[in-house]
Amino acid sequence: MSVQEIIRLGHPTLRQTAAPFPLEKIQSAEFEELVDDLRQTLADSGGIGLAAPQINVSVQVAVIEISNPKTRYGEVKTLPFTVFVNPVISVLDPAVAGYWEGCLSVPGMMGFVERPQHIKVDYFDDQGREQTMELSGFLATVFQHEFDHLYGHLYVDKLLDPKLFCFEEEYLKFHVDPE
Ligand code: ZN
Repeated sequence: MSVQEIIRLGHPTLRQTAAPFPLEKIQSAEFEELVDDLRQTLADSGGIGLAAPQINVSVQVAVIEISNPKTRYGEVKTLPFTVFVNPVISVLDPAVAGYWEGCLSVPGMMGFVERPQHIKVDYFDDQGREQTMELSGFLATVFQHEFDHLYGHLYVDKLLDPKLFCFEEEYLKFHVDPE
């Protein structure tokens, strides 16, 4: 139970479809340890979401925590630390909007990606209960980015234009709209 290494773009685990997590194992010692590793690694990274494949565990478990509502995308709803087991996304409205995304597995880089902005996610929580959450705007983007990791997809696959992929420093220098 500790901060784990976050694997980076090029590691084959990031490209695998992760195995659905066996529901009977929710709340097992193995599960609690995985969730604890994800919690500590996410807190250490300063990110808002982390999927198990990013710590080289190829199962469909991800965690999201948004503690600071002020982001560069404007004010968003906070979300307490939440565990998502075997999440399935349904698009409720195919209309897309674009955001610059970053990823703990692609450190130092940013890319512009368009995604649907109104989705529903069905998942099991850390007690094994079925849950549904509806998300819109930037949060819909965050959830899609995070759960893509469970299917071997990375945001770099979805860049609107390869020219809209850059180092974070250059992003801040040349691509952020002046306030
Ligand atoms: Zn990511």
